[in-house]
Amino acid sequence: MGMKHFDALREAAAEISDLHAAMALLEWDQQTFMPHNSAADRSEQIGTLAKLIHEKSSAKTFGKLIEKASKETANLPPDAFESRLCRRLRREFGKTSRVPASLAAKIAGTAAKAHRAWAEAREKSDFSVFQPYLAQLIDLRRRYAGYFQPSGDIYDPLLDNFEEGCTVAKIDPIFTSLREKQCALLRKIAAGTQVDDTFLHTEYDPAGQLAFVNEVITRMGYDFTRGRQDMSEHPFTTSFGLNDVRITTKVFAKLPVSCLLSSVHECGHALYELGIDKKLNRTPLAEGASFAFHESQSRLWENFVARSHDFWTFFYPKLRELFPAQLADVPLEAFYRAVNKVEPSLIRTEADEATYNLHIMLRYEMEKDMLNGRIEVADIPGTWNRKSLEYLGIEPENDAQGVLQDIHWSMGEFGYFPTYALGNLIAAQIWTRAERELPGLGESIREGDFSPLLGFLRKNLHVYGAKFTPAETLRLSTGCNRIDPDCFMGILERKYAAIYGFRAE
Ligand code: ZN
Repeated sequence: MGMKHFDALREAAAEISDLHAAMALLEWDQQTFMPHNSAADRSEQIGTLAKLIHEKSSAKTFGKLIEKASKETANLPPDAFESRLCRRLRREFGKTSRVPASLAAKIAGTAAKAHRAWAEAREKSDFSVFQPYLAQLIDLRRRYAGYFQPSGDIYDPLLDNFEEGCTVAKIDPIFTSLREKQCALLRKIAAGTQVDDTFLHTEYDPAGQLAFVNEVITRMGYDFTRGRQDMSEHPFTTSFGLNDVRITTKVFAKLPVSCLLSSVHECGHALYELGIDKKLNRTPLAEGASFAFHESQSRLWENFVARSHDFWTFFYPKLRELFPAQLADVPLEAFYRAVNKVEPSLIRTEADEATYNLHIMLRYEMEKDMLNGRIEVADIPGTWNRKSLEYLGIEPENDAQGVLQDIHWSMGEFGYFPTYALGNLIAAQIWTRAERELPGLGESIREGDFSPLLGFLRKNLHVYGAKFTPAETLRLSTGCNRIDPDCFMGILERKYAAIYGFRAE
């Protein structure tokens, strides 16, 4: 059966994918190798590509083509590639065309100014510099969300931009239960004897750190013929199609575990994309199912693998051989505990596994209140500090350490944060299923063999890419219909009960 409209649509979508890849390559270069003085030209080039992408993907003719191709493929099974591609493009085009171009442009323009103000505010640790821009962005995002009414909560359309189908009504009960249990766990940990990790804060030669990290990610299954690892200020993963998925890392001489865990984290993201069905290449389905699913993969490797006793049983002797002066007197047990030290801190990106979600819930609650007009913009720093004290037991000394620490709001992005916590929860559910279905999982990891785990993840998640919705992908990958915070909490309880010496629930 000929499908001329679908074929034309597929070709048009492939061109847009190519432009995205080209833009991503320019951005990757900007973060890694670009000489400092070409920044101005580079931002013009990226701007031109962004404009081309916007023109192509919001063109009326493109919308018509999506409609025609959707009709043409209407009788195919609902999980056919063709139906799924049409569905995805319909959703994206529908979202874009609902919002007037003038409002979208206003948001982009305000965000650019807000971002500069935020950087200055953070530098001076003075929220008032950023305050008027944040007020404008909240107002613009409220107007944006208005185009998607009636929805349950004004925050919902923004959540949906990062996680399809995600709503306040769905997240609230998950986070309410999670918050209570995380705070209770933190109290039990605080009552235990604190772990000594001083040996993780001495000098470790960067070249040795990188050699170690390379061995770890090679064993994890990262394919250096379809990717590479370089250095950047902020580690990230980017892809230029399914055969070129790159990661970056950053080495701190006195924080050896930081480089390792951030490489493992990014490698987890990259393995996801490298495992996507090649049939989806050059389409918008050639990516993770959602932000939360993407984060589930980086977190699974970072927390459930690279912070596990099994992992260090294999790798610790190798690390010790590389750094005898630092580690000769440190037994495996002490090292394992140090890697899992829990200590509430003010900065989200430096938070440990047991406190991370609390940082997210604080932001989620504030975004919800900001968009619903339940909080005055001037009161945002105060609310932040109060919640920080309530959840983490510590209060920022200044705005830079508190409300100004994250870049997201300065870019007009509200609704992104919850996906980080949801990713942690999904990771726990996938991990639990892997443990159930792979009886030799722990043993293979103790032998440095990650292929059973990677094979499991590929088969049950990676291969699908973004072909299915997050809800469908949750069913396929975990076997469950809902995100279950208790699964995550169970893993944390058992782990920290052993490390901090309390009775697990
Ligand atoms: Zn990540």
